[in-house]
This record gives sequence, structure tokens and C-alpha cells, in this order.
Amino acid sequence: MNETAGIKGKPHVVVLGCNFGGLTAARFIKEKSGDAIDVTVIDRKPYLVFVPNIQMEVFADNDPEEKLQMQFYHFLKQDGSTFLQAEVKEIDVDAKSVTITPTERPGAASEKVQYDYLVIALGCKLDYAALPGFAEYGHTVSDTYYGNKLRRYLFGGQYKGGPIAIGTARFQMGTKGRPDWIPNMTSACEGPPLELSLGLSALLEERKWGSAKNITLFTQGEWIAEDAGIPLVKEFLHMAVDQMGMSYVNQTQDIKEITKDGIEFVNGKSVEAELKIVLPNWVAHDFMKQLPIVDEMGFVVTDLYMRNPDHPEILAVGDCAALTAPKLGGIGDQQARIVAQQIAKDMGKLDGEEKEMKLEPVVMCFGDMGHHKAFYIHSDLIYGGKTGVMKMGHKYFMMKVGFKEAYFMMGGKTPGWGIKLTELLGG
Ligand SMILES: Cc1cc2nc3c(=O)[nH]c(=O)nc-3n(C[C@H](O)[C@H](O)[C@H](O)COP(=O)(O)OP(=O)(O)OC[C@H]3O[C@@H](n4cnc5c(N)ncnc54)[C@H](O)[C@@H]3O)c2cc1C
Repeated sequence: MNETAGIKGKPHVVVLGCNFGGLTAARFIKEKSGDAIDVTVIDRKPYLVFVPNIQMEVFADNDPEEKLQMQFYHFLKQDGSTFLQAEVKEIDVDAKSVTITPTERPGAASEKVQYDYLVIALGCKLDYAALPGFAEYGHTVSDTYYGNKLRRYLFGGQYKGGPIAIGTARFQMGTKGRPDWIPNMTSACEGPPLELSLGLSALLEERKWGSAKNITLFTQGEWIAEDAGIPLVKEFLHMAVDQMGMSYVNQTQDIKEITKDGIEFVNGKSVEAELKIVLPNWVAHDFMKQLPIVDEMGFVVTDLYMRNPDHPEILAVGDCAALTAPKLGGIGDQQARIVAQQIAKDMGKLDGEEKEMKLEPVVMCFGDMGHHKAFYIHSDLIYGGKTGVMKMGHKYFMMKVGFKEAYFMMGGKTPGWGIKLTELLGG
């Protein structure tokens, strides 16, 4: 096995994963610590997928692969970072090394990469394989492959105008190291079903395929998307169910099986559906589960500075972190900035005036509603805060589209994950 160590003898920061969390972390780490460190970024693919906008492109009959994959190599090169296209196979926290296998061509030999700091931003496994019937009868929009499959179904003449069920499978969080103000959540990310239901209603009307009345939203607990805060959810359901005519099924506990005719739930209920659009459980990658730095479910345990308490040289960003609940890119973005600051602090590069940031998560998202409108949610109610804002309209659609453009132009180094844009446009 070959050994690739810190290349120029400086502290070697290795960032695992280069989607939202990893790219932003790598870029801010380099900006803050500059020549004091070497940065190596490892991902199995050389591009980022802008996941939140897949539904919009699919419902506009655009190929999301064309619009939403961003090559990031030149941004890393411009920063002076090294990119390795490889699969991360193993982390040895005692030897401070990572075993990788290059992915450009099959048959590559494994290598070890030594680190002084390890930033884990590997996201989660979206466990569709564990959902019985998904491969045969399920649809989703969490990557461009499945986005295009749904696009072919809708626009290729397969959809017959029948009922549609939209919801998520049950999520299981760990408890180790989790502060009590981050409550247990039964869904990893339940904004997408809200967005899908509104976007699809608009599409059904525009194409004269049906209306909101075709759609049933389902959830494990009492309230769908409870991470947005119950008052906002009630407002949403008043619009979607009472005014638009969608159906709502709650307390399902979990998806038992997706069948040709619908979805069966663990509580014995079922929903009839021709089209079943679901998000699965977000689970830790298999090789992470046995590590001494993770909780019972395999998510990386950290303090509010995103450092593992037993191995402070290991930091976590994004969906793989135990403290990221719900699993939102916006929370990962905040963590990426915290991690960059922590490493800069160790390098003596922190400006004396700079306030040390710690994790203060907010739920922030722009959701497509079709008809060139979007909703905007900014809430910390789930964490016991007092902010709970939901707005809707054309300008939020422009902000959703604009954020993606800004993200691609700036290579993940945006001023913020949307909040500042909102302030800029007057809330
Ligand atoms: C449909 C949908 C809509 C969403 N909408 C929003 C939204 O509006 N707002 C919001 O804030 N969030 C949204 N999210 C959540 C958001 O997409 C995630 O929180 C975000 O992608 C997490 O970023 P990450 O970098 O932590 O992980 P990921 O995006 O999962 O990236 C992980 C990276 O690690 C790489 N990787 C994984 N394992 C390995 C390995 N073993 N070896 C090498 N590389 C590996 C992957 O290739 C990938 O590039 C949405 C999610 C979905 C599914």
C-alpha cells in the first residue's frame, strides 16, 4: 500500500467529501489558514450536485445533470489545494490515516493518506435499498439519476393522472453527545415533501393532468416538517390541505412497503397511489459505524465547535455530523465556517478581534412552489428559539434560482446560505 503524507511538511488538513459541506469547508480553511497548511480534498467524483434544485429542473422538464452538476476542480486548484478522486474506505483515528482507492478507473490499488487534521464531510447514505419496493415502484429527486427517472415518467407519457403519495421514511438519530436542545427528529429532512407537493400541484394544473387533489402528503409523527416549527407547519397545512385540497396522513410510523398500487405503513394504514415520491432514511456510511468517534447510529460526535471531544484533530461538517439535525445544507454551511475558524485558531491565524463561532443552527430553506413562486422558511423554533418566518412569492423563487447561480460562480464560498440575500431584498 502506498503512503501519501502531508506533501510539503506543513500540517496536513484532509477534507473527506466535496459536496456542500466539504467544498465550503476546504475553501474557507485555505482562505483563513493560507500557507500555514496543506489541504487535500478527497471525493469519489469530481463535481458537486446542487441537490435542492433538482425538483425545479425536473418539473420544468430540464435535465438536472446538465444544470446542477458543478465541476469544482479549478476552485480547489486556484486555492492551492490538492484534489484526489478516490473512494474513502477506512479511517484509522490512532494512526491518523485514511485508506482510499482511486475511482477514475476500476482496479486501482489502495493508498494511505496521513493527516494532522481530518475534516469529515462525507454526508450520509440515502438508504433507498432498505425500502421494500422502491426500485420497482418508487420515485425521488435526491440525485440527478432519480430526478431524470421521474422526469421520464412524468413527461414520457407514463403518468396516467392518478393519485400521488409524497413523504419520507423514518429517520433514527443517535443520542451520544447530543445537547437536549436538539430534539429527536423522526425525519432527516422533510422540507422536500412540502416543496414536491406544491411544485407538483402547479405542474398538474399547468399540464391539465390533475390538481393538488391528486396528492397525499404523509408523515411518521403528528406534524410533517415539524423541524420548521409547529406554527409554520399549521400555516402550511391550512394552505395545502384546507385551501388546495391535498390529503394528509400522519402517525404512519414508517414506510413498510412501496407497492404497485400505493404505500403501506408500519401502523397498518396505507395510501393508494400511482406515483410514489419518497425520501428514505439518512444513515451513516457502513465503514463509519465502527469508529470510536461516532454515536450509536454512526454519525460523528462533536462539540459545538464541530470537533470530536476525544480527537479534537477530527472535525465534522454537514449531514455526517451528529449535531446536524435536520440534515440541511444550510446547517453544514455554518459548520464549514466554524471548522475553518477552529483550524485557523490552532495555526495562530485568527484575528484577535474575530469572535469565535459555535454552532447555532437555524432551519433555512427556499422551496419551489411552481408557477415561478417559492416559499422561504427561516426558523429556530425547533431548538427553542423565537424566530419563525415563512414567506411565499415570486421574489423567493428568484432568490432560490439566484442562490444556485451565486454558489456556482463563487465555488461554494457564498456570503451565507441565503439569509443575507433575504435581508438584502428586504425580508
Ligand atoms: C430533495 C432534497 C432537497 C433538499 N433541499 C434542501 C434545501 O432546500 N436547503 C438545505 O439547506 N438543504 C436541503 N437538502 C439537504 C442537503 O442536500 C444536504 O444537507 C447536503 O447535501 C449535505 O451536504 P454534505 O456535504 O454534508 O453531504 P453530501 O451532499 O451528501 O455530500 C457528501 C459528499 O461526499 C462524497 N462521498 C460520500 N462517501 C464517500 C466515500 N466513501 N468516498 C469518497 N467520497 C464520498 C459524495 O460523493 C459527496 O460529494 C435537500 C436534500 C434533498 C435530498
